[in-house]
Amino acid sequence: MDTRQSKCLLCPLGCDVAFRVKGEAVVGPEFCAAAGPHSARVCARGLYGADLLMHPQRVANPFVRKDGVLRDASWESAVEALGSSLRRIAVAHGWQSVAVVTEPTRSTAELEAVDRFARSLGVGAVSCLFEPQDWPLVAAEDSDGVSAITEANCVIVLGDPFFSHAVLAKDIIDAKYTARGNSLFVVDPRRSNTAWYASEHVQNRPGSEALVLACILKALRASGKIGSGTLPWLDAADETSLLAAAGIGRDVVARMARAYADGAKAAIVVAPAARAVHDVALVARLARLIAGSCGGGKGCVLLPSGGNVLGAREVVSKGGWTSAPALVHGIAAGKYKALLNLGADVLCSFPSPALTAAVRGLECVASLSLFRGEIESASSVVLAGASWLESDGSAVLFDG
Ligand code: SF4
Repeated sequence: MDTRQSKCLLCPLGCDVAFRVKGEAVVGPEFCAAAGPHSARVCARGLYGADLLMHPQRVANPFVRKDGVLRDASWESAVEALGSSLRRIAVAHGWQSVAVVTEPTRSTAELEAVDRFARSLGVGAVSCLFEPQDWPLVAAEDSDGVSAITEANCVIVLGDPFFSHAVLAKDIIDAKYTARGNSLFVVDPRRSNTAWYASEHVQNRPGSEALVLACILKALRASGKIGSGTLPWLDAADETSLLAAAGIGRDVVARMARAYADGAKAAIVVAPAARAVHDVALVARLARLIAGSCGGGKGCVLLPSGGNVLGAREVVSKGGWTSAPALVHGIAAGKYKALLNLGADVLCSFPSPALTAAVRGLECVASLSLFRGEIESASSVVLAGASWLESDGSAVLFDG
């Protein structure tokens, strides 16, 4: 029995994972002693991620739809069926009528291959399906690393990293208990996993995270931490209205502002759950303003959820990529005749009866996938994909 080592790409922390293999079968997880930033730590998702390889919905070989049913096919016949469909559509409507989608859980090499593939054919759109909260977190490239949390005297968390980035739970709990008087504030309308460990759970109204941070900025202004010459818009904001809209009290805001500003080391962690925070870009900007206003030792950790979001950002930033909403709008408007889903499922990412009907009405839908999902039910050709545990490739992890 062999032991293989890899990285978990279920979130961008990229913990080292190991698993036992016998022949071609994964037998189970193994202790991994690699010395990475989260060495010898892995959460349940990473530990049992290899179980997904043998999931009943796994696509283990290609399929081609015949008489309305997906049937087993050889790689040669599946690729030939897809190629002839695309050639027919390109002759009739041009390559501009073909759209390609992928997503940021793929390795950087795979995303670059998608980029080259789309450019060489001159397709009408190539898009990467970022989680809605992820792009605003990574676009500005101004996050501190997770080391900002280590031994911080005050940590303010927006989101639920104990669930979404679970190995960070140890760093956050360690920070809370490193010294008497340390504090962990969790801003979340829900009693989340992280909130259970908070010194104070700040239960704001859903969607009011930006208002909570604006209240902290107001408190920092009132205490003289932010000079009157900067951020002039702060003076125009009415604190009583902000507090009422956020559903929180003045006292807890003052405690958060004081603990953050007075700590020798402090961190704000923004880790919004998928679609839980609507104005993520504004929340990230305000969190950075707070960190930048309080002097040295203050960090702002902007945590995306996708495994290789940072690698995907590098590829997409070369230009020529279409945003996911624009792609979805184009499909619904009948702009495309063919849709290639390369490791992505546009119907799961943007569930709607109208989009499902539009996709089912396309002349050609194909997918390269690990599992059977919604898009496979609309595909005429399904190719079997490999997971990051089964293939070589690199990803840009959160801490480099
Ligand atoms: S914290 Fe993230 S990268 Fe680490 S094992 Fe869990 S899901 Fe995987």
